[in-house]
Amino acid sequence: MALEPRAIERAVLAWYDREARALPWRAPPKERQDPYKVWLSEIMLQQTTVKAVAPRYIDFLRRWPDVAALARAELGEVLAAWAGLGYYARARNLHACARAVAGEHGGDFPDTEAELRKLPGIGAYTAAAIAAIAFGKRATAVDGNIERVMARLFAVERPLPAAKKELKALAESLTPETRAGDFAQSLMDLGATICTPRRPACGLCPVRPACRGYAQGVAEQLPYKEEKAPRPTRRGVAFVVLREDGAVLLRTRPLKGLLGGMLEVPSTPWEETAPTKTARAAHAPVDLPWQDVSGRVEHTFTHFHLELCVVRAVVPEGVALLEVAEPERCRWLTMRELPGAALPTVMRKVLAHAFEAKAKRRAPKKQASKTRASKTRASPVRRSEDRRSA
Ligand code: SF4
Repeated sequence: MALEPRAIERAVLAWYDREARALPWRAPPKERQDPYKVWLSEIMLQQTTVKAVAPRYIDFLRRWPDVAALARAELGEVLAAWAGLGYYARARNLHACARAVAGEHGGDFPDTEAELRKLPGIGAYTAAAIAAIAFGKRATAVDGNIERVMARLFAVERPLPAAKKELKALAESLTPETRAGDFAQSLMDLGATICTPRRPACGLCPVRPACRGYAQGVAEQLPYKEEKAPRPTRRGVAFVVLREDGAVLLRTRPLKGLLGGMLEVPSTPWEETAPTKTARAAHAPVDLPWQDVSGRVEHTFTHFHLELCVVRAVVPEGVALLEVAEPERCRWLTMRELPGAALPTVMRKVLAHAFEAKAKRRAPKKQASKTRASKTRASPVRRSEDRRSA
């Protein structure tokens, strides 16, 4: 097979008709999907795996079955339902977009890429995916999987991200007039199941006869990538205030910026130099005798790595919050409320670290030393390579 676009299109679509993945947000091949479902799934899938998204998507859809229902929700509810998925700006935009569709478009998503891109949180990729998959328009959605397939199919040597435009143009050259949505989804599936980052299963690939990367024996090395600058490390101190009944003091983060609108354990600013004693005292939410919790919590965001020391203090039940800095942003959450709260993963790690220290203190001596021994063998650090961010 030569690199003839229509031959590639036919081969990929025939493969998709046989092998399409059954995903909760998918319509079967040759059928259009509800734009709300396409939009919701595409936003959820950004920077997050299919495995992580599938159950959360089903929960979201059960709770907010259409765009009008999501528009009626409070932002706090949406953020809480999003907790743990990372990149929390997506949740804020999701809510804003639902309100814009309900308020300005009569509850119907616009059907062109240009109009879709005017909505909050919808960029070039998502607009093309909705236009193609939900409205059958000839539009080319290019995600990381499709970039990889294009780089290999055409043996593109220019590294990413500089090659992005070229890879998009190549995908556009293959996009058919009809079934553009199925074509995009077939390439996504091809990248996810056959043309995988490591050890592509070229023997099973419907476009192998046309693949230059395969023919040249360089498929697995492609796409080339420019070296990334190392992530800086930021440091801070997190202040866990516990009430005797187990409630914990949390603060709402400002709406704009990293983890915007989510709940947090109050902390010093996160900076490259560790906070001084003076900074610790200045940023403590309340004046209490703080105890250091041994070890530290680590979390990796997209642009930086975070190391947090944790200090904790226990206050008697019923204590007033009058002395707390910024009381309008602070509130107590009970243990029963914590699982459903809008707490990002990094803050859940901080709380788990502090609770673990509390449990160890309460444990009888024998058991405490046993726990300490086993933990020491594991790691004193809560480490994560979670690449999700806000
Ligand atoms: Fe990818 Fe191999 Fe198929 Fe080429 S032949 S597109 S490298 S799976």
